[in-house]
Amino acid sequence: MSIISDFNDDEKGMVLEGLTLNVKQIQDDLLKEILTLNSGTEYLQNFLHGSSAKEIFKKKLPIVTYKDVKPFFDRVANGDSSDIISALPLTNFFMSSGTSGGANKLLPSNNKFLDGYAFINDLLVHVISKHVEGVDKGKGMVFHLTGHETRTPGGLPIEPGTSWYLKSDYFKNRPSNWFYSYTSPDEIMLGSDLKQNLHCHLLCGLVQRDEVVRISSTYASGMVRVIKVLEDSWKELCSNIRSGHLSEWITDSGCRNAVSMVLGGQPRPKLSDEIENICSQKSWEGIMKRLWPKTKYIEAIVTGSMVQYIPTLEHYCSDLPLVSTTYASSESIIGINIYPLCEPEDISYTLMPNISYFEFIPVEGDIVDVVDLADVKLGSSYKLLVTNLWGLYRMRIGDIVKVTGFHNKAPQFRFLGRENALLSIDTDRTNEEYLFKALNRAKLVLKSSDLRLVDFTSYADVSSSAPGHYVIYWEVNVINEDMKNLEFDQKTFLECCSVMEDSFDDEYRYCRSNEFVGPLEIRVVNDGTFDSLMNLSISKGTSVTQYKTPTCITSEKGLQVLEKNVVARFFSTLSASHFA
Ligand code: AMP
Repeated sequence: MSIISDFNDDEKGMVLEGLTLNVKQIQDDLLKEILTLNSGTEYLQNFLHGSSAKEIFKKKLPIVTYKDVKPFFDRVANGDSSDIISALPLTNFFMSSGTSGGANKLLPSNNKFLDGYAFINDLLVHVISKHVEGVDKGKGMVFHLTGHETRTPGGLPIEPGTSWYLKSDYFKNRPSNWFYSYTSPDEIMLGSDLKQNLHCHLLCGLVQRDEVVRISSTYASGMVRVIKVLEDSWKELCSNIRSGHLSEWITDSGCRNAVSMVLGGQPRPKLSDEIENICSQKSWEGIMKRLWPKTKYIEAIVTGSMVQYIPTLEHYCSDLPLVSTTYASSESIIGINIYPLCEPEDISYTLMPNISYFEFIPVEGDIVDVVDLADVKLGSSYKLLVTNLWGLYRMRIGDIVKVTGFHNKAPQFRFLGRENALLSIDTDRTNEEYLFKALNRAKLVLKSSDLRLVDFTSYADVSSSAPGHYVIYWEVNVINEDMKNLEFDQKTFLECCSVMEDSFDDEYRYCRSNEFVGPLEIRVVNDGTFDSLMNLSISKGTSVTQYKTPTCITSEKGLQVLEKNVVARFFSTLSASHFA
């Protein structure tokens, strides 16, 4: 992978053209490089016996899941030499947030991952500045967060990919262009106390509100959380700005010093009045643009399980475009969105052929039909496999993607969801795609009653009823801010139960009609319950920037948090015969 940070914009454009024109050659060369480099590893020796030929790789190397290769990863984590899977030393483990069941995966990595990360960022500099005029005329309020790091028994650091990047020399020696120009000093991004870091990020962003041209957080869920912190603490933030002094409870010395430099001990009563004036207005609709008037877009991933946050973001950000730039995972950086200003429902990612070797199992086919990146078909859906330079070979990452078009020869993919069935009571298997379809229909019903879904998760409850049934936990709030109390309108929630059930697939209908599955239940939980769920996960080592609410919850502790907060229950009134 070439270093392109010193390239000018035209040159970066040419790199993107070159990559997308020569997909097949680049992928074949990369596979050759991976196999030649790693042919001596114990893992590849077992199957390929020293060969680096593509035909042998395709014929002999098994397609695996995380569970299959976990014993190798565990050996490295426990102190075995990394050359059992990778010729290049493995230096880090990533804690992948895992999107199904909330289970974390531990994946080995090394600097090659960061090469990819830096490369993609450099390409994004080109793609975004091509579409967003004036983005280079100010700063980014970017909610980079690091959190704490743990170690494997063998002593290798365990952290999310984004944290590792922020602590690395790649970030320290980053290019000096608009993409890396932030309102927050690095110390805030590198601090380990998330509450303190968010307060300081917001403070720096508010003090420089006239310079902010973009607001960014990795996932939409993170952006929603930032807005919640703003809602809870704008008075305190204003008081800090008014006095020129940071609140005493911020004890992280790195943050304190960095923010002191920004505040300079200078009282700013006028600025504080302006912000107070905006925040004390009854409606917070469009607040982001009012607080940061020069903002051109909000950057956050809004695809996949993040789709559910779009209405909330649209409420607070009004007409600001929501820009979803990157598709990445702990297994590999995968692709970028080369049309950053497109509507959320049109977002597709162009896979970058020089980062990892990608293969695709057709959803409607067999494992023997696995195809290369250059051979996927428009309109088809696939399960994604990754072979990378640092020890992952033909690994199913669990994502399902659909080909929506091509840029030159490079296919573009819409993210459809995770592979695993989420909810299952009997022979029914309801996956994310169906669950989201059902939720989208229910959200329309909620909207017509002035209610908004804040967050959700689901659970296959096989113990409280016989037959078992699907439980959907919902946190909702009111759209119309005049309505002080959230009234549980029985009719609305019952209708939500029915439209959801009616959206599931034939197998669900079959099970429901035969009473193998009972009526779906919505359990409404208290305001803030999903924040508590997130805090629980973070306390167990998940990074706040990578955290995604599990679409289906299996953790006992997580369930307890939800159950403690249930304030109302509604069961679908549709009869079994309705599904026949
Ligand atoms: P992690 O390993 O914790 O970074 O999680 C990676 C997973 O997050 C991917 O395998 C996807 O399921 C999901 N993900 C990452 N980027 C996107 C995106 N742009 N759109 C939808 N889902 C994404």
